[in-house]
Amino acid sequence: MRQGALALALAALALFGCRQAAGVQAPPARYDTGPLPADLTYDEVDAAEVGAVCRSFGDTSPEDQVLACYVFAKHVIVLPTRASDPVIYPALKRHEEGHARGWPANHPS
Ligand SMILES: [Zn+2]
Repeated sequence: MRQGALALALAALALFGCRQAAGVQAPPARYDTGPLPADLTYDEVDAAEVGAVCRSFGDTSPEDQVLACYVFAKHVIVLPTRASDPVIYPALKRHEEGHARGWPANHPS
């Protein structure tokens, strides 16, 4: 990847860190269903490690503010494992899949 493209990808990626500490916003209807990127992958890690993994992909959010993230440049969703956070897992997955379908990072309704 060219240097400029990488810098742009990382800038976009940083915007995709999710910072809601309480409650997880559901995507608007048009981003809530429909096809996902064909090469989408899920990287499920312990809840305590999500922030560090997101940062390893270039997210610049403070580790303790990231519940999950969508890595725009790689089509990767980083989530806590269902076992490590069974209550919030479905909502986080739904939220990040909304981003994977094109829901902008600033969460417009
Ligand atoms: Zn989000």
